[in-house]
Amino acid sequence: MAARRRGIDRAAPESAGGRLEKALLGLLAAAPKPLGTYELLPALARLEGRAVYPHQIYRALDRLIGVDLVERVECVSGHMLRGEQPGIILVCTLCGIGFQAQGADLHEALRDLAREHGFTPGRTIVEALGRCAACAQARPNVRRP
Ligand SMILES: [Zn+2]
Repeated sequence: MAARRRGIDRAAPESAGGRLEKALLGLLAAAPKPLGTYELLPALARLEGRAVYPHQIYRALDRLIGVDLVERVECVSGHMLRGEQPGIILVCTLCGIGFQAQGADLHEALRDLAREHGFTPGRTIVEALGRCAACAQARPNVRRP
């Protein structure tokens, strides 16, 4: 929760873009799963009291990603608040919940492995699709996540 609060506190100053960014951070902080642009649109329009267009959301998300407050979740084309440290993003394919398990070692191992092959990595992405603990317990017979 501290990371979520930190993100909201570090949002852009008051302006139309800043208000949208703060609203975005609030929605992402409250969501138990990564949210895509088209999931964010109606909620943002309701909060802003006016139409909000996808390009406005893309621009706000780009800025928030650029200042390390938001992370894109590639495997579900969504976004979530970024944790305080690099981590592994885990997404349940049954209920959609997503969260970040903290730990930088895997990212370092990926960078080291890439360098061993002469590859200069930029951004590393570590995501896993599967079943959360609640779904694994509630639906143990579901074979494929
Ligand atoms: Zn689940």
